[in-house]
Amino acid sequence: PETITVQELANRMAARVPEVVKSLMKLGVMATATQTIDADTAELVVGEFGHKSKRVSEADIEIGLEGVQDRPEDLTPRPPVVTIMGHVDHGKTSLLDALRATNVAGGEAGGITQHIGAYQVTLESGAKMTFIDTPGHEAFTAMRARGASVTDIVVLVVAADDGVMPQTIEAIRHAKAANAPIIVAINKIDRPDANPTRVRTELLQYDIAVEEMGGETQDVEVSALKREGLDRLQEAILLQAELLDLKANTNRSAEGAVIEARLDRGRGPVATVLVQNGTLRQGDMVVAGTEQGRVRAMLDDQGKPVIAAGPSVPVEILGLSGVPSAGEAFVVVEDEGRAREIAEFRQRRQRDSSAAAGAAARGTLDQMLA
Ligand code: GDP
Ligand code: MG
Repeated sequence: PETITVQELANRMAARVPEVVKSLMKLGVMATATQTIDADTAELVVGEFGHKSKRVSEADIEIGLEGVQDRPEDLTPRPPVVTIMGHVDHGKTSLLDALRATNVAGGEAGGITQHIGAYQVTLESGAKMTFIDTPGHEAFTAMRARGASVTDIVVLVVAADDGVMPQTIEAIRHAKAANAPIIVAINKIDRPDANPTRVRTELLQYDIAVEEMGGETQDVEVSALKREGLDRLQEAILLQAELLDLKANTNRSAEGAVIEARLDRGRGPVATVLVQNGTLRQGDMVVAGTEQGRVRAMLDDQGKPVIAAGPSVPVEILGLSGVPSAGEAFVVVEDEGRAREIAEFRQRRQRDSSAAAGAAARGTLDQMLA
C-alpha cells in the first residue's frame, strides 16, 4: 500500500525534496514530489537520512522527527510573499522603496532604514503583504536551486520607455519555472516617452497576455518615482493572493526558508528567515541547512525585537552555530540533541557529496590525461 508522498516524507524529515528524490534514485525508485511511496521504501530513506523510524502498521511508519500534517481546519489565510523582478534600471529598487513607504504599521515612514532581506507592509485596510528585498535573478535562482520556494507572486517590472529587455525575458522564465503567477508593473509612466501599449504588445511574444490583450495576467501602470499607481498594484497583489488561497497553520512549530545570512562582527551569525508555516518563537531550537542553534533574539524588518513571528513574516534571527546559505530550509525541532543530530548528519552528507564530486572530477581529469 502506498503510504506517503515524497514531499510529505521530506517535510517530516526536515529534508529537502531533491535530497529525498536523490536518495530514492539510489534505491532505484523514480518519484517526484507529489508521488507516493510505500512504507518499506520510506523506511529505507528515513534510515539513509540517519533518522529512526518505527513501523506503526503495515502501511505506516512513524518518523522520529516532529512531523505535523496540518488539518484543513487549522489553516488560516496568510499574507502573500512577493518578489520583484525585471531588467536592470527598470525600477525594481525604486519600486521596493516606494512600496515600503506605504506601510502604515510600525516606525515612521522612511524613518528606519534597517535593512533585512525582506519586509512586510500593512495597508490601511489591515491587509498585509511581504516583499522579498533581494531582487536579482541570481538570488532567486540560488534559492530555487536549494529547493526553496518562497515566492507566491512575481511582480515583473517593465519600464514603459524601454519595453521588454533580455532580463525581462529571463525573469519571465524564472517565474514560470517557479510556477509563480506574474503581475506586470509597467513603470516610469511619468516619462514623456512612456509607451505602455508597446510593453503589453511585446509581452504577448513571451506568452504573457494582460487583460487588455484578452489574457488573464494583471497589469498596472505605475511610477515608482512619483509614487503613482502603488495602491492599484497592491490591490492586484491582494486579488492574486485571494485566487491562490494562501493558507498556513499558525499553531505549530515553525518552518521556512533562509532569505540571506551573514556573519556580524558583534552579533555572530545573523540570518533573515521567512516563516512559511507555524510560528517561530524566541528560544526555539532551529536547524537551518547545516547549522543549528537556539533563537537567542529575533528582530523584525524595522530592527525591533519581537518574540514571535507567524506565517509570511520575515525576521532576523540570532543564535545559529554558523552562517546558512540563502534558500536553505529551516525547521524548529524539539530539542538541542535533535538539532545537533540533524545538522551533523547534513554536514556529513555535504562532505560526502563534495568528496564524491571531487572524485568524479579527478576521474575525468585522469581520463583526459590518459
Ligand atoms: P533597478 O536597477 O531595476 O533596481 O532600477 P532602479 O530602481 O535603480 O532605477 C533605475 C533608474 O530609473 C533610477 O535612476 C531611478 O530613479 C529611475 N526610475 C525608477 N522608477 C522610475 C519612475 O517611475 N519614473 C522615472 N522617470 N524614473 C524612474
Ligand atoms: Mg536595483
